[in-house]
Amino acid sequence: ATHQLRTPLAGIRWSLDMLIKKNFGEMNPEQVSVLEKGLVNTERMIRIVNDILNLDKIDNDQLKMAITPGDLNVVIEGAVTDLTQQAAIKEVRIEYRKSDATLPSLPMDADKIRMVMDNLIDNAVKYSKDGGVVHISVDASKATSSSNPVVTVSVSDDGIGIPESDKEEMFTKFYRAPNARRQDPNGNGIGLFVVKSIIEGHHGNIWYESKEGKGTSFHFSLPLR
Ligand code: ADP
Repeated sequence: ATHQLRTPLAGIRWSLDMLIKKNFGEMNPEQVSVLEKGLVNTERMIRIVNDILNLDKIDNDQLKMAITPGDLNVVIEGAVTDLTQQAAIKEVRIEYRKSDATLPSLPMDADKIRMVMDNLIDNAVKYSKDGGVVHISVDASKATSSSNPVVTVSVSDDGIGIPESDKEEMFTKFYRAPNARRQDPNGNGIGLFVVKSIIEGHHGNIWYESKEGKGTSFHFSLPLR
């Protein structure tokens, strides 16, 4: 049933997108703003449906990675573009600082790494204070290391942070810290669990640093080999 939600949701997203791009004529700013909110919510619903589908696959040991050489920049830029509107509703700015070095092509399942980026940015926006800034950066300085070449992506916010006491459980299925429940009662605690499984499916690592009330940085590294 969850799988069946994907096609109608994609249809709704397409319709809203066409209207916003004014393919069917001009609209006043208020009309555009209403449609943009509809699009943001539809995209959020698509992310939730994808998380639930992936959770089901993880539970049945069926989460497979289709690894091919890919461009991490394209994946990140796609996620940033899609989440910018959602962030703007909270007056949160997303800033993506590209790596100074040219990124090598990376063995990855681009659709799944996109889900990782969507989840991490969605969380950073959701747990930001109004007017906050989300910074995304890529560190390719270890890409040429002979022993363990990796590229590391970071998503940082200056939001509510993660309490030290919740550290052990953060990547556990359905886990939500009390401060997150207060800030946004509608979360489900699935996203980070799925994100961790995807990164581990790439033989990568994921970790975070956080200070309650000050902000959080999530980092993941993907191996080049
Ligand atoms: P959800 O956001 O729907 O609750 P997730 O699995 O994505 O589910 O995240 C699990 C929990 O991790 C959140 O409920 C929250 O406690 C914590 N968390 C994740 N990202 C952040 C963040 N950027 N800032 C503060 N807390 C976070």
